[in-house]
Amino acid sequence: MTQGLTTSPKNYSGTCIRCGSCMSVCPIYQVSLQETDVARGKMELLEWERSHPEFKESDIFNKIISRCLLCGACENSCPNKVPTKDCIQEVRQHLSQNTKEKIMLSSLKSLMKSKTSGTIFRKSGSFFQHLVGKKLPDSSGMHLRFPLRSMSNRKFIPEISSRSFANMYSSEYSEPKEQTKRIVYFTGCGANYLFIETARALMNVFEKYNIVPFVPQEQVCCGLPFYASGDQTNAIALAKKNIDVIDHLQPDVVLTTCASCGSHIHQWIDLLKNEPDYHIRAQKIAKQQKDAMIFLMEENSSEIFFSQISDNSKKIKANIWYHHPCHLRFGKTQSPLPKKWFDAFPHVNIIYSDDKCCGNGGKFQLSHFDLSMKIFDKRMDDFSPKDIHHVLTSCTGCQLQFSEGMLRHGMTAKVAHPLTWLANINLLS
Ligand code: SF4
Ligand code: SF4
Ligand code: SF4
Repeated sequence: MTQGLTTSPKNYSGTCIRCGSCMSVCPIYQVSLQETDVARGKMELLEWERSHPEFKESDIFNKIISRCLLCGACENSCPNKVPTKDCIQEVRQHLSQNTKEKIMLSSLKSLMKSKTSGTIFRKSGSFFQHLVGKKLPDSSGMHLRFPLRSMSNRKFIPEISSRSFANMYSSEYSEPKEQTKRIVYFTGCGANYLFIETARALMNVFEKYNIVPFVPQEQVCCGLPFYASGDQTNAIALAKKNIDVIDHLQPDVVLTTCASCGSHIHQWIDLLKNEPDYHIRAQKIAKQQKDAMIFLMEENSSEIFFSQISDNSKKIKANIWYHHPCHLRFGKTQSPLPKKWFDAFPHVNIIYSDDKCCGNGGKFQLSHFDLSMKIFDKRMDDFSPKDIHHVLTSCTGCQLQFSEGMLRHGMTAKVAHPLTWLANINLLS
């Protein structure tokens, strides 16, 4: 037993009616069939905790609270809109003291003990060099996404750039001009360090529009991994830094290419509810936030965008699996499938999948790697995508999960952001 839980979640007023609607949509419950994994079981536990002042937090309690992807599927199907994510988040915040330090220390120790560490260091090359050498900013959520401990389990080890895209951008692209629409591109750590090709692909599209967006070098991680870990202090500090940087540029639109980052920008409002100036500016930025794919499909931009696709490109043949990230399926950033986008390619055979989580869940994949992979395996049960050429998805976490999962399933399909796919096959003439 450790120190007792001193606060009950303020976000929950006991409105769960135990209807069980959340059971059929919870990705974890679908794999484990354990009542404590689904929203109904978690709400029952929190209600019990609330009515028992003598309650002491325990390892079992911590484990139950940690087993949630914060995907939002339960809230979406709940007749009473029980705010499960906020409740879990609030309890995690209470439990989180010193979590980050513990994770980093135990990660380092376990890697040093690992027999395979030498292989991993050789295999992962520049990634570890930069991570261990702290060439990534301390504020990057990538430290939480890839603590050393978790790397021994992985087949897919991403390359990481020591120089951010935002930094390269300032030397490779011309200065943004005064334009009718001021666009700020918030890259997130994914496109800034891991999947730089996504950021480049977006810039290619804008070049055709004759638009040069602002890509502020001073932007930092959106803070989602810290928030999901319950580390409110760092999550708030990062949100404030980003708000200062973005708001200073007076944008009309704030574009994101990672659904998780886009969704977390909306969370800044709640995080800063006690700081009126930041709260107002967070609301403004949330209104300006748009997923880049959605932006390019909108009325004013889609005509120009689709006119850039050459006739030859429209003849391209490929089998594509498009995964709609949870952060585009639920909540404030809920968006339709990008059918309009792919309809431009009549010979592309596309499977849209928008009914299941891939199992990443940010920090969840790191703390529950095996369970996360079981959720992915269930994702793959639906069909046998042996002849799939590309898996496309617009979230850094999903991209990482599919890259790992496809390797485990012996699949050779390339995983990418849809913008990268377009750029790679030179569809834009
Ligand atoms: S769907 Fe909502 S009300 Fe029904 S059991 Fe789940 S959390 Fe409770
Ligand atoms: S947020 Fe997702 S993982 Fe967590 S209880 Fe709800 S459906 Fe399950
Ligand atoms: S959620 Fe976005 S900004 Fe935050 S760590 Fe992930 S990729 Fe980076």
